[in-house]
Amino acid sequence: MTVAASLDWRDRAARLFPGGVNSPVRAYQAVGGEPPLLLRGKGPFVWDEAGRRYVDYVGAFGPLLLGHANHAVAEAIATAAALGGPFGVTGPGEVRLAEMIRARMPSVERVRFVNRGTEAAMSALRVARAATGRELIVKFDGAYHGHADSLLVAAGSGAATLSVPDSAGVTRSVAAQTLVATYNDLASVEALLQSHPRQVAAVIVEPVAANMGVVAPLAGFLAGLRELTTRAGALLIFDEVITGFRVAPGGAQELYGVRPDLTVLGKIIGGGLPVGAYGGRAQLMDLVAPSGPVYQAGTLSGHPVVMAAGEATLAQLTPDVYVKIEEQSARLEAGLRVDGACVARVGSLLTLFFREQQPRNFSEAKASETRGFARFFHSMLDAGVVLPPSQFEAWFVSAAHDSSVIDATLEAARG
Ligand SMILES: *Cc1c(COP(=O)(O)O)cnc(C)c1O
Repeated sequence: MTVAASLDWRDRAARLFPGGVNSPVRAYQAVGGEPPLLLRGKGPFVWDEAGRRYVDYVGAFGPLLLGHANHAVAEAIATAAALGGPFGVTGPGEVRLAEMIRARMPSVERVRFVNRGTEAAMSALRVARAATGRELIVKFDGAYHGHADSLLVAAGSGAATLSVPDSAGVTRSVAAQTLVATYNDLASVEALLQSHPRQVAAVIVEPVAANMGVVAPLAGFLAGLRELTTRAGALLIFDEVITGFRVAPGGAQELYGVRPDLTVLGKIIGGGLPVGAYGGRAQLMDLVAPSGPVYQAGTLSGHPVVMAAGEATLAQLTPDVYVKIEEQSARLEAGLRVDGACVARVGSLLTLFFREQQPRNFSEAKASETRGFARFFHSMLDAGVVLPPSQFEAWFVSAAHDSSVIDATLEAARG
């Protein structure tokens, strides 16, 4: 395909979709310029319409822990698709994937599959409210849990009780039910729990914040949340849509040794297809219909093709693979030296922050020199490396990124 042809696609997309895209970050607004037209991927690489190859660190924004077009995943998808369905009854694919999840995450005694992380987070809040009979939720400034109304409240920094919607179309009354605390600041959580006694249903947290760039939990932060929520009679919800089965075989709850009441999953468990899941203590999950009064349903939930992709993905994610991914991610971190920038990393999640020190929360992350990031982004793209197009999106290393790919990335970063 020629460059003119790619302009034609962009032109047509611009007329068809708001901003030319079906999800905002794809428009490259934070870095400027036009996104490449990417037509094919294999392992750690993607190719544009002119046949030019790039190393990819977008990884579909998280799901592709095995890289693009993993052979066994692609075969499993084709095999499942050829069998027809969905059949309108529970099938073996759902059972097998759920058993794999429960084996890795013992806190997930029962699970419900849905179609997206957004839906899973929204539903987990509904369960928490039903279980506690309380209405308020605590989330963290800069944390992303999908775009359900009550979770599109983020920029509350400081004025925690005066939550304002982050999006037009979200009502103030919904926003007012979400309180905003500061990541890595237990005192901010404690203050909200104390000023709203017996009103907070749940604290929802990304155990490793990965939507403000990568911000690791400080020692004791997650354990402290566990203690504070238990004491306040509120539930602790881990949003492991990104960390789930990426940062450790059992997710962040295994890595940090903290057991949440409910867990939200997505991304990797769908092997690159749309998926979400929420689960936790049996007693809580039994509140969900048809065993309980919390209504939640989905025409395509537990789709056999998606389940097959997820199963083929998790089956390949053996302990050895995590060791290998950790080695290559550490190699990338160690070699990445850019003036005025620092690296934050947890496993295969990495951010090059354009500031001197790793941020501990969103307001520190926002103090990054985002124009420096935009320049770096474009110099990498020119050198054949596609990074996520924002300072605040994590780079995703996959099991297909070997030493030669990492070294080529470091070479590109040296300019
Ligand atoms: C991506 C993401 C979601 C939303 O998942 P979708 O499948 O895009 O709806 C929720 N929480 C976290 C932490 C995420 O990174």
